[in-house]
Amino acid sequence: THENTASNGVSSKYLREFLDEMQPNQIREYLRKFTRLPHLAGTEQNLKYAEEIKKDWQDFGLDSVEMAPYDVLLSYPNTSQPNYISIVDQFGNEVFNTSLAEPVPQGYEDVSNIVPPYSAFSAKGQPEGDLVYVNYGRTEDFFQLEREMNISATGKIVIVRYGKIFRGNKVKNAVLAGAKGIIMFSDPADYWASGVQLYPDGWNLPGGGVQRGNVLNLNGAGDPLTPGYPAKEYTHRFSVEDGVGLPKIPVHPIGFDDAIHLNMGGQIPPNSWKGSLNVSYRIGPGFTHEFKSQKVRMNIHTNNKVTRIYNVIGRIRGALEPDRYVILGGHRDAWVFGGIDPMSGAAVVHEIVRSAGRLLSEGWRPRRTIIFASWDAEEFGLLGSTEWAEDNAKLLQERAVAYINADSAIEGTYTLRVDCTPSLHTLVYEVTKKIDSPEEGEEGLSLYESWHKRDNWTQDRDAPRISKLSSGSDFEAYFIRLGIAAGRARYTKNKKTELYSSYPLYHSVYETFEIVEKFYDPSFRRLKAVSQVRGGLIFLLADSQLLPLDANQYADSLRKYTQSIAQLAQRHPAQMEMYEVSFGEFTTATLPLSCGRCKACSNISICDLICLPVRIMNDQLMYLERTFIDPLGLPGRPFYRHVIFAPSSHNKYAGESFPGIYDALFDIENSADPEKAWEEVKRQISIAAFTVHAAAMTLTPPA
Ligand code: GLU
Ligand code: CA
Ligand code: ZN
Ligand code: ZN
Repeated sequence: THENTASNGVSSKYLREFLDEMQPNQIREYLRKFTRLPHLAGTEQNLKYAEEIKKDWQDFGLDSVEMAPYDVLLSYPNTSQPNYISIVDQFGNEVFNTSLAEPVPQGYEDVSNIVPPYSAFSAKGQPEGDLVYVNYGRTEDFFQLEREMNISATGKIVIVRYGKIFRGNKVKNAVLAGAKGIIMFSDPADYWASGVQLYPDGWNLPGGGVQRGNVLNLNGAGDPLTPGYPAKEYTHRFSVEDGVGLPKIPVHPIGFDDAIHLNMGGQIPPNSWKGSLNVSYRIGPGFTHEFKSQKVRMNIHTNNKVTRIYNVIGRIRGALEPDRYVILGGHRDAWVFGGIDPMSGAAVVHEIVRSAGRLLSEGWRPRRTIIFASWDAEEFGLLGSTEWAEDNAKLLQERAVAYINADSAIEGTYTLRVDCTPSLHTLVYEVTKKIDSPEEGEEGLSLYESWHKRDNWTQDRDAPRISKLSSGSDFEAYFIRLGIAAGRARYTKNKKTELYSSYPLYHSVYETFEIVEKFYDPSFRRLKAVSQVRGGLIFLLADSQLLPLDANQYADSLRKYTQSIAQLAQRHPAQMEMYEVSFGEFTTATLPLSCGRCKACSNISICDLICLPVRIMNDQLMYLERTFIDPLGLPGRPFYRHVIFAPSSHNKYAGESFPGIYDALFDIENSADPEKAWEEVKRQISIAAFTVHAAAMTLTPPA
């Protein structure tokens, strides 16, 4: 009826009902149910959870739910030959060995199938040698080691602390530096929040806790053996030697109880390289003088194995535009119990599906099709989501409107955190204004207000912070490869005061149901707020007559990114002049402000009678993101095809804008062939200029 229909054609009654249906206790129940047992990708338990999710989604009332299996390369420790690191003396005796497992948390003593800490896809081998400490193993850390300290890591075993960047980038840097092995350890400086107790009394990482994780450099390829094509039974597979992104050296993670035994000699470290362990943090190579004859040996026996994985795909058929898809996807596979990662997110998706089912039973049906996905093998390199994207690429590139990611829904207790494409900013603000703050004592405040007061985007505009998308979760193939508008939302820590990386218990056995229930969200109201954000976005994207994508906001963001990349180049004024590098064409390249024809649609009911114009406009908006895709991809990264955004080449967890130009400029002052390097800068500027012009053309009247 008229009173209930907002100007976007959405039934605000159903939206309100949808948001109000979501309940903290339901989310609690789902989190409890899906964190009882370990459910690593490729294991029987993770298939069982997939079957339960399928059944539940059917019972909730989805129109269809199916399994989408793929056979992908996974990696597991050898159960008869454990992985560990030793200190060996001059006679070859192992005088110290790192632990083989984390102490099992209370209440879980009888649980089997807890995979010991390991670096998935490590090469096998038993390299032996001297250690060199390289801080966080970042590009700048290796530069400092080699250029300032004049220490070479060639032929050495590198040891780095976890944190700051994606671990796969650390491994890549170690390989490039010529290391024959790499050890990663968690330092309390990076994995302890101040004033917080160790698990189980709090949420800090105990000395025996270790972060698992894959160490691939896939650059968006998905399954290492089938880049570009879905990993089905009939699919051709490369041999493992030719697989994409597999490290060529052994890699292993340890906790800090073990790390203190690897106290080294050699140069004194700069202060910024010191963590908070009671050791010297000396750089090496090797141990102090009196232990000079001791070496470190890594014993790694991890196996790669092609294994079946299962995505669960559920659908609500769109009433008017069934051929337009809005996707909500998040992973189900966990390193162990997945208390936060990913089940806090999966529990939220479960509650969104249940709430959508309730609405369906009351006669609601969205304008567009909604697809819900429970992805498998995210932890092994975003494999389930990428294989399904490859399988469905032709449909998705024609029909997908937006992708909302649903990994971990909480990583702190401070406020909301959103990363999304610029065209979704406006919608995120609108949705968060309709949701209550989950914080104690903020009755009557909206989530928007609560978020705004904690994380105001002061330098830019008076609104809560929204960041660029990076990678390290399942939206990657949808956004960076296919060019589908995408976003993610979760509850987070206070970046300004809580400096530790991710959250202390990340990827350890201590990520249990209890840490969420006792410490992160005892009332489950924060998780409810995240459900409402993710669900609200999906609802409005699927049900608004005019797509709630804001091209003007994209234009604004492009202006900002253009300015900042031009400023970066201006740091080399002499070279810019000498090699005739100019941003001329590029700085004027921008999107036209929206044409105003949409005013004709302000009376939505008239538009329904002449729905073709709406569809024309919606297609322009939907395809705007697609126009930023360059089919040739970025240099050396064929599956990173978005010209405006890519994961940083130095950190998969960070986003880079105009990545082609950025990478061409990177460290250019040390280039062996400056003329060629600046030629590449010019080529990248022209690609960016062309892409923005081409995007602009699609927003002008079609004829
Ligand atoms: N989210 C997982 C991690 O950070 C996988 C990321 C990836 O492979 O991109 O370890
Ligand atoms: Ca594939
Ligand atoms: Zn995750
Ligand atoms: Zn994870």
